[in-house]
Amino acid sequence: MNLHQRHVRLLAAALIAGVVAGCSERGPEAGGRILVVGIDSADWDVIGPLMEEGRLPNLATLVESGVSCDLHSLEPKQKSPTIWATIATGKLPEKHGITDFMDPQTKKILTSNVRTARTFWDIIGESGMTVTVVGWLVSWPAEVVNGYMVTDYFRYSPRPDRPLPEHLTYPDDLRDEVEPLRVVSDGITEEDLDRFIDLDAAMTADEAQQLPVEQMFLEMRGMSELEQRASALSDILAGDRTFLAVTRHLMRNRPTDVSIVYLRGVDTASHKFWAAAHPGEVGFPVSQTESRVFGATVARYYEYADEMLGLLVDEFGDGTVIVCSDHGFEGPKPGQLPGGINDHGPIGILVMSGDAFRDGVRIEERSVRDVTPTILALCGLPVGDDMDGSVIEDAFEPAFLRSHPARRVPTYEHTE
Ligand SMILES: [Zn+2]
Repeated sequence: MNLHQRHVRLLAAALIAGVVAGCSERGPEAGGRILVVGIDSADWDVIGPLMEEGRLPNLATLVESGVSCDLHSLEPKQKSPTIWATIATGKLPEKHGITDFMDPQTKKILTSNVRTARTFWDIIGESGMTVTVVGWLVSWPAEVVNGYMVTDYFRYSPRPDRPLPEHLTYPDDLRDEVEPLRVVSDGITEEDLDRFIDLDAAMTADEAQQLPVEQMFLEMRGMSELEQRASALSDILAGDRTFLAVTRHLMRNRPTDVSIVYLRGVDTASHKFWAAAHPGEVGFPVSQTESRVFGATVARYYEYADEMLGLLVDEFGDGTVIVCSDHGFEGPKPGQLPGGINDHGPIGILVMSGDAFRDGVRIEERSVRDVTPTILALCGLPVGDDMDGSVIEDAFEPAFLRSHPARRVPTYEHTE
């Protein structure tokens, strides 16, 4: 099916749903409006102590008013795009086809049209609800949706020698409208970085010279890397700010029934700055300069993610809020190569708060495979028999399940 055919199909489906159910009524009848915030790598072990100290007030409010659980990631460990594709489809990698950032054979970057399973935003869009999708991994080129899409590639800075590709957004002409909202790394100021790092705490050259020679060299390297690390942080911040701004803009000016946004910063900040916060645990030497300047960066980035969450929830208004992560974070372990999926932990987070869900309840661990079936149930839609996950029934208020009993269909895939 080509893009045009899909578009026609979506429009037809939207019209039918509109005639049968009243276009925007299906939403409120079931779970109502929905905001989904994906925070890559968010981990309860980091969140717990911060929440107790009152440093994550927005997430704490959702946890207190909603249902939360450990969210088991895929095993064996997979890269983030693979797990987010499972979250978006309810299917395992062999069914959805997104196995990496790149195709292992051709070394080409994987694109949304490699995906072989339908996403929950596609399914609920076809049911008549309108959707906005921002920043989701492997969403370029933009798909036809019943609403708006701004793809993951939108955040990159165009360069004269490397302009950004076409189809960054759906519809294509949405691009002009959101283009001014892109934040580039160079647009991040020292003041912006101030809240994340303690530059003044860096060791001075005089101090370093008092140290035994091996440590002195470690410190000198730490000092020489300061700028590079700060610029990595600028890049992380620019990406999240871009998608935050785009999502808020769309929610304000083009509101849809469902808004979905993916924020990557917590993951990248954790990879870059975990060692600074846990210098004795990572199996390689960490300079005092690094731990003094960046030791609080991961925790402070979580605070920033919480702030972004608060801004998104405020703009969104009434409805159901779902926050999830694809995996947790354990940091580099002695004897293992640091970086990439080696740093990841097996348990991510899931928080769901809204009328359909129970209040302030912690439930048993579930899987990243269960997110899509649960969102479909929240929308009053059946779950596909060919999905690998199931509805998290104990998350729902019993009254909601009575009035919206779980239904099933053989598949949502178009088989012709
Ligand atoms: Zn990662």
